[in-house]
Amino acid sequence: MLDKTHFPFGAIDIIRTLKGKGYPAFLVGGCVRDLLLGTLPDEWDITTSAKPEEVCKLFDKVIPTGIEYGTVTILLPDGQYEVTTFRSDEKYIDGRHPSNVRFTDDIHQDLSRRDFTINALAYDPIEKKLIDDFNGQKDLADKVIRAIGDPVERFSEDGLRSIRACRLAAKLGFTIEEKTFEAITKTLAVTQKVAPERVHDEIIKLLSAQKPSIGFDLMSKSGLLKIILPKLEDCRDVEQPPEFHKYDVYWHNLQACDAAPQNNPIVRLAALLHDIEKPSCKVDYTFYGHDQKGAETVKNVLQRLKFSNRDIDQVAGLIENHMFDYSSKWGDAAVRRFIRRAGLENIANLFALRIADTKAMEREIDSGYLAELQARIDKIIAEQNALHVKDLKVNGKDVMQTLNLSPGPEVGKVLTALLEKVLDNPALNEREKLLKMIRDV
Ligand code: ATP
Ligand code: MG
Repeated sequence: MLDKTHFPFGAIDIIRTLKGKGYPAFLVGGCVRDLLLGTLPDEWDITTSAKPEEVCKLFDKVIPTGIEYGTVTILLPDGQYEVTTFRSDEKYIDGRHPSNVRFTDDIHQDLSRRDFTINALAYDPIEKKLIDDFNGQKDLADKVIRAIGDPVERFSEDGLRSIRACRLAAKLGFTIEEKTFEAITKTLAVTQKVAPERVHDEIIKLLSAQKPSIGFDLMSKSGLLKIILPKLEDCRDVEQPPEFHKYDVYWHNLQACDAAPQNNPIVRLAALLHDIEKPSCKVDYTFYGHDQKGAETVKNVLQRLKFSNRDIDQVAGLIENHMFDYSSKWGDAAVRRFIRRAGLENIANLFALRIADTKAMEREIDSGYLAELQARIDKIIAEQNALHVKDLKVNGKDVMQTLNLSPGPEVGKVLTALLEKVLDNPALNEREKLLKMIRDV
């Protein structure tokens, strides 16, 4: 299969250049694995015996992206390529980073420091030579994720590997070999110390799998979820009203995540966590306030995992509003209030979340009401009605002058009160009318 692949021009160019200078060079890791599985890799990683400084000298545009670990990124017209010098990392003292990155000129040593047999494949596309020192091809055929060497030792060196095992199982639809799986539970204390930024990156990758639930459920069964997303683990066995729900809160969250659009990590994350405060809000079969409380909790959870403020705001906003209802009886003012509460830019995501949430209840989906609400929103936007304080035909200066106020929260309160009136009656959004109203609101 590999000898028939059309490799990107840039990858071939880099490997040819390195080999021309006498340095062995290979495609390595995920890209070789994916090609053997018949899927198109999303990145092409290259490994070579050339030291980073030597690689830098051979190419024009090189960025030292991870030079302390031997990685540089080469920019070429058809894309960017990570080139990493062969490494043999022996000691991991803190379970986070190799304490001593040692370069080697032996590809076999480099492959042996990698995490799983299926990731320890190297291919020279010029000589058409595959190196498979750990029976990776067999594990690919058997759809198995197996640590290289002793799994407890390997996960103790780097606690991220156990998360990667679950993530790859979901990405590839593979199982985790028994001893490798058992090692996850035995090394939880190491994983607990992993830098949250690294965990963040694996979660993002897991969210892009076809079924992230496979990975999260493996994390739950091995004990990982309890340390990474304990609030989600707490949803296990929390029962819901059987007339609406087939699953407990935990499984419902996971199913909602799978049902959310694969290319939209924000909605997937919101779906995964949308009901995390149901356990604490449960009274009989009701969960009053779990949306508000869930939005607050998710901010802490995502901050701990180093998500950006923008991501956190979006996910928290979706969770806060996920219980919205709609009726054809709503007046236009109610539709405008809905737009303001959810934020116009979040409405598509909120609807996607609602669809995923409904699918995960295994109920008939009647999204007719969403289409109706969307049509009414579109109409209102088209009419360009005022929806935000900044859309009012008066501003803070006008309020301060009219009421003789100095800058402060009072000014904002007056503007918000004016906006309420305009939401009820858009015809009031005229400067003269609003200036008169300032004194009375
Ligand atoms: P994906 O295709 O989803 O990116 P990947 O296996 O390529 O999966 P990367 O994070 O891109 O994952 O890593 C590239 C390669 O580097 C892996 O295939 C593996 O050989 C090696 N690797 C990555 N992380 C580790 C780790 N923590 N320990 C050992 N080897 C690792
Ligand atoms: Mg990769």
